[in-house]
Amino acid sequence: MGLLMNTKDHKQIRLNELYAPYQKCMQCPLGGMGRANVVFGEGNPDANLMFIGEAPGRDEDLQGRPFIGRSGQLLTKIMKSIGIKREEVFITNIVKCRPPGNRKPLANESGTCKNLLLFNQIKIIHPIVICTLGAASLEGLLEEPVKITKIRGKELIFEKTKLIPTLHPAYILRNPKALKDLTSDIEKAFKLTKKSTKAK
Ligand code: URA
Repeated sequence: MGLLMNTKDHKQIRLNELYAPYQKCMQCPLGGMGRANVVFGEGNPDANLMFIGEAPGRDEDLQGRPFIGRSGQLLTKIMKSIGIKREEVFITNIVKCRPPGNRKPLANESGTCKNLLLFNQIKIIHPIVICTLGAASLEGLLEEPVKITKIRGKELIFEKTKLIPTLHPAYILRNPKALKDLTSDIEKAFKLTKKSTKAK
């Protein structure tokens, strides 16, 4: 590689450097609870739109990739219906290791993980809009209880970054009528990325 590197490549290197020391992370109790992979996240390192879910599930843990199980497939389908390519966004979770039995991550687990990884991912990627998926994801970021059906779709600000909270795709699998809400929130988040340009 020459002296000049484009932003995307540079950010990818910074993300790789961030992940490297945590590939077998034992910084919180989830490290010793049988997880197969630390699911760092994937996508465009210079994404304008960043999705944040709760924690990897079984499929994600086994394959080391976020949102690839049933909810992930639904998320990918919704994105496609709006005209968003999965490779153009970045997808990750508050907590990078699967909690046993898919229980909700505990405050110490999400607190540790977001400080070590998520907040640094946000700093590197520097998205224009963050879209949180589900109550646990928003609660993990804000550290306060939320009523997701009330707050979803509203434009919030998290540490100077625009944030659109929405429902978790797993909720739609149980309540298909809410598909239109999840779709319109993601569309809103995507449109918002078009309204401003990104500071590099
Ligand atoms: N649910 C999540 O919150 N994250 C994933 O990666 C998969 C399912």
